[in-house]
Amino acid sequence: MGFIERLPLTDMTPFTNQQLQSIVAQLDQAIHSHDQWYKSLLRVLITHLPPEEADLLPDAHLHCRFGQWYGSEQASFIKDNPAFIALGDAHEKMHRSARKLLQRMSEGVPISPIEWDHFENTLDRVRLEFQSLRLDYSTIAKNRDPLTEAQTRGSMLVELREQNALVSRGRQDCALVMFDLDHFKRVNDEFGHAAGDAVLVSTVRSVKEVLREYDKIYRYGGEEFLICMPSTNLEEAGHVCERMRAAIAGQRIQHASSIEPLQVTASFGVAALSSRRTVEESIACADAAMYKAKSAGRNRVVVGN
Ligand code: GH3
Ligand code: MG
Ligand code: MG
Repeated sequence: MGFIERLPLTDMTPFTNQQLQSIVAQLDQAIHSHDQWYKSLLRVLITHLPPEEADLLPDAHLHCRFGQWYGSEQASFIKDNPAFIALGDAHEKMHRSARKLLQRMSEGVPISPIEWDHFENTLDRVRLEFQSLRLDYSTIAKNRDPLTEAQTRGSMLVELREQNALVSRGRQDCALVMFDLDHFKRVNDEFGHAAGDAVLVSTVRSVKEVLREYDKIYRYGGEEFLICMPSTNLEEAGHVCERMRAAIAGQRIQHASSIEPLQVTASFGVAALSSRRTVEESIACADAAMYKAKSAGRNRVVVGN
């Protein structure tokens, strides 16, 4: 059997934190239903009770509780994930194998060790695909800032070091961007902390719309964010920053604390990950460029080195 290489799901998924939690809960429920099904199958095989009729049907995989969830509207949210497709495939094979065992039992023919091992293999495959799918969504949820849905700093340095290793081996360019909201304290002071929170949420959403699937955005500090852009040189990163700057400045954020919609700007600093310095030094370069943008009047992009 060939293994399809699959790319990890990235944090640029449009799912909200709430949706991610709901997906993980549904998967837990599906795993539980599958375990229950397995237990009752074993009970039938060992005690020779009459099998469930549905388990003897050629399309038995559509009739168990997991199969019903798999084909439901709820599960359709994750149907594009390759692990979801692989799970469906593994589940169908497992039911085919289980059906054969039940037929042997009904015919009074002993199940051969090969048939049993085949069934166990299909079962292991289903469990593996379940865990892999669950891990995709739970990892994203775990590494996300609950307010802004940017990534937390938890895995930031590890991920940046991986990118730096690719840069050092000459595999790619990689740009780092630091941006910080301008005079953000005033938003809190004038309209309250809840308004400030709403601005942060909206800003990250606007920025994510500009970014590509394999870019990453981390909440570096309160209103300060770090973006990692793989396969991007300084010039290209400068253009993307200009689009993000315009997207932030173009926001008109409605909030109960103000009749007029809230508006903010941000200052951007760009630097390259480089084999000539550590990740921490590259972050400091992006930070220094961002401070130049602040002192040059804010609401602008400064490309460093
Ligand atoms: P500058 O243009 O120089 O960056 O000015 P600033 O006012 O943005 O900078 P300063 O560092 O003085 O203020 C940052 C403010 O961000 C202060 C802090 O209360 C606010 N802040 C940080 N995290 C949060 C948050 O999660 N929610 C809200 N509402 N405010 C936050
Ligand atoms: Mg600020
Ligand atoms: Mg700041």
